[in-house]
Amino acid sequence: MDGTVETAGETPVRRRVAYVLPVYNEQDNIAVFHEALVGATSARADLDFEFVYVDDGSRDASLERLVELRERDPRVTIVQFSRNYGHQVAVTAGLDLVAGTGAADAVVVMDTDLQDPPRVSLEMIERWEAGAEVVYAQRRTRKDTAFKRATAWGFYWVLDRLASIEIPRNVGDFRLMDARVVAEVARYREHDRFLRGIVAHVGFRQEALLFDRDERYAGESGYPLRKMIGFAASGILGFSTAPLKMISRLGFAISAFSLLLACYVLGVRLFMPEETVPGWAFLGVGMFMLSGIQLVMMGVIGSYLGRVYVEAQDRPLYTLAMVARDPASGRGVPA
Ligand code: UDP
Ligand code: MG
Repeated sequence: MDGTVETAGETPVRRRVAYVLPVYNEQDNIAVFHEALVGATSARADLDFEFVYVDDGSRDASLERLVELRERDPRVTIVQFSRNYGHQVAVTAGLDLVAGTGAADAVVVMDTDLQDPPRVSLEMIERWEAGAEVVYAQRRTRKDTAFKRATAWGFYWVLDRLASIEIPRNVGDFRLMDARVVAEVARYREHDRFLRGIVAHVGFRQEALLFDRDERYAGESGYPLRKMIGFAASGILGFSTAPLKMISRLGFAISAFSLLLACYVLGVRLFMPEETVPGWAFLGVGMFMLSGIQLVMMGVIGSYLGRVYVEAQDRPLYTLAMVARDPASGRGVPA
């Protein structure tokens, strides 16, 4: 005997990694995507994988495609929403499922349109094994339209200046999170969700991983401009009260200006009796400008009030129509 601990017969603990994969009208992408994902993850036979697809109320044959996947691959879990709730909520549901059942040691969130390359997620796993608790993919290049790039740039510029936390630029929701982080994120229940902000807010050891984002394989983006503006608003309203403070600053500035104006009018009156201060044009413009500013500021208050209202209603974040998960895997099926 050389004194080493007897390990024969002891099964090493296999680490489990779950993928959370939101799906909205991706019928032509799912099979190709899953093949690419399985191809990439097969390099890590030492890990247990689960692929949680969340069907976000797709109107095409996405669900049928997912069911086909599941027939061939029992590691595929399907979560079906009762309707379309949006990408952020779909990801949340996937995280909830994994966090609620303690089914993974780490979770990777990625899109199912092949814009996020599956091989990059393997690099994330390596970083996680080296000690990182969040590994977010940062775009070195992006193949989006010039318009999308410009709007994204403007949004992060504003957010940087307003938000109380630092939200990394050129980072989407493609990231790996340790189970501890997922458990924390699952406790954030705001209805207007901006997940990348929540993850930044949670903290832990976060690392960036540079990658080149690909073009969407098939189908079209589910993020038209209207949704993008709403999403940007969630980011700003959810992580900053700066716009509210701006209202009083603006009020002070306008008051100071009007005081100067009053001094000017008084001065003209007292010291230049032959002059008259020009009248109605200035009044008219001033009136319209000020009511414009006031309405916009009311809108800012209204946006916050709207969030308060939605939170006060406290409706469930989403409703599940169906969950198909493999009980044989020992992961259990939630009610
Ligand atoms: N998605 C979703 N619900 C939606 C819109 C999109 O689950 O209401 C999914 C979509 O299937 C994809 C990911 O979210 O996997 C990103 O969506 P998309 O590619 O449309 O956004 P983009 O890459 O253009 O920002
Ligand atoms: Mg996409």
